[in-house]
Amino acid sequence: MPIYQLSETMIDQIAAGEVVERPASVVKELVENALDAGATRIEIATAGGGKSLLRVSDNGGGIAVTDLPLAIRRHCTSKLSDNLDNIQTLGFRGEALPSIGSVARLTLRSRHRESGADAHEIRVQNGQVEAPRPAALSQGTVVEVRDLFYSVPARLKFLKGEKAESSAITDVVRRMAIAFPQVRFELTGEDRTPTVFEATSDPLARIAAVVGKEFGENALQLDALREGVELTGFAGLPTFNRGNALFQFFYVNGRPVRDKSLLSAIRGAYADVVARDRHPVAVLFLTLDPRDVDVNVHPAKADVRFRDPGLVRGLVVGAIRALLADSGIRASTTGAS
Ligand code: ADP
Ligand code: MG
Repeated sequence: MPIYQLSETMIDQIAAGEVVERPASVVKELVENALDAGATRIEIATAGGGKSLLRVSDNGGGIAVTDLPLAIRRHCTSKLSDNLDNIQTLGFRGEALPSIGSVARLTLRSRHRESGADAHEIRVQNGQVEAPRPAALSQGTVVEVRDLFYSVPARLKFLKGEKAESSAITDVVRRMAIAFPQVRFELTGEDRTPTVFEATSDPLARIAAVVGKEFGENALQLDALREGVELTGFAGLPTFNRGNALFQFFYVNGRPVRDKSLLSAIRGAYADVVARDRHPVAVLFLTLDPRDVDVNVHPAKADVRFRDPGLVRGLVVGAIRALLADSGIRASTTGAS
């Protein structure tokens, strides 16, 4: 077989496999875009566990009509300037929209704040882009994703049931909500009970809204610093544990992450005071020099790589253990309930 160049659509579909794993990953990308656009209100609507419909509406700055075709072109972004060491936005790879457009029916409707012009929309199906046309929209951007993976049946097969996909979406929204308390989030759909997080200037109030009011009385406040790495947040009491790790929230320089090394650090910190099959509740914010952490490990941007993983682990384990010890919690006395 001679060597040939893959078609654009094929390339996008391959990339989509990494960026878009399931409906929840689409939601994550679209919410990140809304946040990067400066939105203060984000509405997420779903149907069929997000498999038949995902719609994210925001009141952000919008996209100019001339930029609409670029927004869905691979490696086109308005965000990354020139330096991977200093990424200030949640997105930077210019991959999400083209990836989604290659595996779903995508509509992008937007009204650009600056141009003051009318709204326009653009549609993509199977990687085929239609020309932008006028649309009705008072502000911001609405991104609609229908029939995710309709063009990639092999992928579709690997999705879980509607309920499981729905809860994965809720999880993504909750993780984002903790990082952005000043933004109002609304998650609705025929397939779920609505979740609303009202905007607040109090990060603690948002954490309580997400994790539960009882968390406040059952958590210790963290504030530790080691070699330029700062750890703040809340570590739940060992008795306030859960059956899964869904209530462990990590943020690195404000970005929600799901990192194995951090999960493992939590386990280590509580190893003596929480039973192995139980999971403590924690909300941890790590702040460090952006040059000491790589957020560009994987297209989904959920994993991070620390320049000094031992330092970070030591900080997390040490700070939590010290807090627990200070409040008189010892393995022998607490046990896990
Ligand atoms: P990235 O976020 O990495 O730039 P995306 O494919 O997610 O890549 O988005 C491409 C571009 O489309 C963004 O850089 C941005 O300019 C524009 N865009 C996407 N979503 C929105 C939105 N909700 N509001 C304003 N602009 C958006
Ligand atoms: Mg993006």
